[in-house]
This record gives sequence, structure tokens and C-alpha cells, in this order.
Amino acid sequence: MAAIFFTFAIIKIFNFLVLKDYIDHQIFKTISKVADLMGVEAYVVGGYVRDSILNRPSVDIDIVVLGSGIEVARKVAKELDSKIQVKVFKNFGTAMFNFHESKDWDVEFVGARKESYRLDSRKPIVEDGSIEDDQKRRDFTINALAFSLNKSDFGRLLDPFNGVSDIKSKIIKTPLDPNITYSDDPLRMMRAIRFATQLNFTIEEKSFEAINQNAERIKIVSQERVMDELNKIILSSKPSIGFDLLDKSGLLKFIFPQLLELKGVDIRNGIGHKDNFYHTLEVLDNLAVHSNNLWLRWAALLHDIAKPATKRFVEGQGWTFHGHEFKGAKMVPKIFASLKLPMNEKMRFVQKMVLLHLRPIVLSQETVTDSAVRRLLFDAGDEVDDLMTLCEADITSKNETKVKRFLTNFKIVRQKLIEIEEKDNIRNWQPPVSGKIIMETFAIQPSRQVGVIKDAIRNAILDGDIANNFEDAFAFMLKKGDELGLTAISE
Ligand code: ATP
Repeated sequence: MAAIFFTFAIIKIFNFLVLKDYIDHQIFKTISKVADLMGVEAYVVGGYVRDSILNRPSVDIDIVVLGSGIEVARKVAKELDSKIQVKVFKNFGTAMFNFHESKDWDVEFVGARKESYRLDSRKPIVEDGSIEDDQKRRDFTINALAFSLNKSDFGRLLDPFNGVSDIKSKIIKTPLDPNITYSDDPLRMMRAIRFATQLNFTIEEKSFEAINQNAERIKIVSQERVMDELNKIILSSKPSIGFDLLDKSGLLKFIFPQLLELKGVDIRNGIGHKDNFYHTLEVLDNLAVHSNNLWLRWAALLHDIAKPATKRFVEGQGWTFHGHEFKGAKMVPKIFASLKLPMNEKMRFVQKMVLLHLRPIVLSQETVTDSAVRRLLFDAGDEVDDLMTLCEADITSKNETKVKRFLTNFKIVRQKLIEIEEKDNIRNWQPPVSGKIIMETFAIQPSRQVGVIKDAIRNAILDGDIANNFEDAFAFMLKKGDELGLTAISE
């Protein structure tokens, strides 16, 4: 018995010493000094403490003080470096600053709060509170941890809801009744699923049931906040975990109904097709291994989005989805607008990926000709590598020989892309002969003929009939003009 007690005590002391390392930084020492001088209590809370225990140190520090967070922030910043700019948000009673010392730290200060909620809003009524009140208002037990910073108990862990034990058992649990927690602020449902996905934790059964019951309340949360969480799920190392939970909890139908349309399998004459929802998630997981680009991951999510709308059963052929890449590309702006995602070059990138996502596959099924590779380079431009990565992720067949064959062919396509690009410079292609030169050479006004000649030059280059340079293109232009009955006034 004594031995067990002794071992337990040693582990506790060891953990304490290790954890103390995470606050062994000038920032924490300065906060400690300033808080003592001002006679206020100060704590590090939330994500920083959770991530310390998970041994994935973060650079976002949240400080709670029993007093004015703004005043403490100003004094700490001055002490650290008089040049630091403190951003103050008076309405929220918060202040923050960046500090560069071995890393780029973001430090945010706030006074301890007690919160109560109304039914129609996720904005609580806030009053000053104790550190216990502040920990109680946190969303999950793993986020309700705090380290004390005052000198008298520097580094003491405050864990009122057994968050450390939940971290060890990899469980997401709310400190208070989950029904109330999620109903008060429905964004927490997205956060629960986001943490479960990022950390590969399980959501406690009672909590998951509460999410199920409150799912519809996600409607009172702003779309931007929902998308922030969804994007974090998409950026995690296995996003399918999150989408599966979003689906099973009933949240997906409120936040991203278009994706659910992909679900299900139709069978006719004993012939079925892939379940495109699960296929899409598999593609997204595959892609996550090779790319951290959020928008390429969105392209993976949307690459087959038009399959339900283009689905047909053709006798003797089975299920077809002809033109789903074109229709899908058209759907992208509408989906981005409805989800309040950016309607800028990021959307256009996703649209381009969706439009072109079959091209490398078609290419790899045939003998790979130089002209087909040139056309792919021309259409995909600088995004050709991303497109190839997406296409490789799109291979989800269970037939290993088939997968191997595809991947080998893709390797050939990638090699060809490099060779042809080195030789012909098609990626950022600019016409070697401009419209202006065409008009001046034949003394013609802007007209259809200029377009015809330009297209002919481009096709001749892409087909490999002429080289991609001014001399060849100019000679070809003269020939083409002649065919069209035009006379060159100068050569
Ligand atoms: P990450 O940095 O990975 O997003 P985090 O936990 O630090 O994780 P923040 O959004 O910065 O996330 O929140 C900081 C802390 O504030 C959380 O750890 C949690 O204690 C608390 N918190 C954040 N959002 C909520 C919320 N909606 N309800 C209750 N507590 C919250």
C-alpha cells in the first residue's frame, strides 16, 4: 500500500515538474511579478494548459485575472518590452498583444467572468466572478484547466472537473449538464466535434446525445463561426472523423446540406454505384496525407458534388454521371455563397479543380501523348501539381491491382508534365504573337478574324505542330492569314 502511495506521489511530483516547464518562460514570470505587485490573482487557462498536458505546446496564451485584465496586460507589456502595442477591446474587457521571444506568442488577458444565458442568443450576460466561476463557463473539462501564476503557488494546476483524467482517457465532456452547455452556446457542438477530430478523442455518450437534441440550435450561430470550426475539421489529419460525427449528430443537415445529397446507393437491375458521401470523405482523408492546403481540401469535398444531379442509369452501361465536373464547377460559387465562404480567387481555385478533376485520369488511361499533356498544362497552369494531388487522392478503389496501375500511370503523367514544361513552357502560357501584332500585320480592326488566328496559333503550339516561340508563331500567323484571304502589309 505504502509503495503504491509512494509511486503515486512520485508521478504527481514528476508531472508537476514537467508541467512547470511549460510556464518557465519570461512571459509567465513577468505576469507573475506584475500580478503580485498589483495584488491580483492571475492564471493561465484553457487551450494552453490543455496543450501543455497533451505535450503539444501552443503559442496562444489566455490569461485570466481576478481584476482588470486590461490594466494587467498594459503593465505586463510595458515590463516585457516598452515597444509592444497592446490592443484593447473595452466592450469585452479584454486586451491582447504579440510578443516575440524564441516564438511568436499571442497573449490575451481578461478578468474572471461568470456567465448566464438567454434562450435566443449565444451572447451571455457577463458579470465579474471567481476563478471557479470562470472555469465553470468553459466548454469542456479539458479546456477548464488553469495554472496559477502568483508566486505563492506558481505552477499549481487547478482542475475542478478532472480535465487531466479526461485528457488521459481521451474524452470530450462538458463541466456542467451538456444539454444546458450546448443549448446556451450551440457553437460548442461544433467545437466538441472539432476537438474530437483534431485530438482523436471520443465525445462522451451523454454529451453526444445532447448534441443530437440541440443540433437545430446551430442556426443561431453566425455562419462565419460555424465555418471557422468546419475549416479546422477539414484541416485536421483525418477529417472524415469530424464529418462522420457531424452526420451522426444531425448537425450536417443544418450546416452543409449539399454534402448529404451525396449519401446513399441506388440499385437497378442488381447494379449499384459507390456511395459518394463516403467516397468523398475517403478522398479528403487521402488528400490530407499529402496537402495542408485548405482550398484543395475543399476541392476534394466538392469534386463529386454534382454526381446526384447528373446521375443516370443507362441500359447496358450501368450508372453514369456524365458532365458532373462541369455542373459541379457551376455549383461551386453557389455553395460558397450559401456557406459564406470567400467569393474570391480561393473559390475560383476550387472551381477550377472541380472542373478539371477528371482530366489526369482520362489522360492516364490512354497512351500519354505530348499534346494531351500540353493541353492539361495549359488549362491547369500553376495549379497542375495540386490537380495531380487531388486526382491521386481520388483513387479509392478496393482493387489493389487497379490502384497500382492508376498510380503508376499518374507517375508517368507527372514525369511527362515536367519534361514537356521544361521543353515548351506552357504553364503560364502567353501567346507569343499578340492580337496587336496580328492587327498591325494585316491592317485589320479588332474582329472575329483576330480571334480565329489567335486560336489557331494556340492550338498549333499545344498540338506540337509549331514550337512555342515568336518566329514560328509569326510564320504560322502569316500562313493562317493568307488562308483567310488577308494580306500582310509588313513582315
Ligand atoms: P484552439 O487554439 O485549438 O482553437 P482553444 O481551446 O485555445 O483551442 P480558443 O477558441 O482560443 O480555443 O478558446 C480558448 C479557451 O476559451 C478554450 O480553451 C475554452 O476554455 C474557452 N472557450 C472558447 N470558446 C468557448 C465557448 N464557445 N464556450 C465556452 N468556452 C469557450
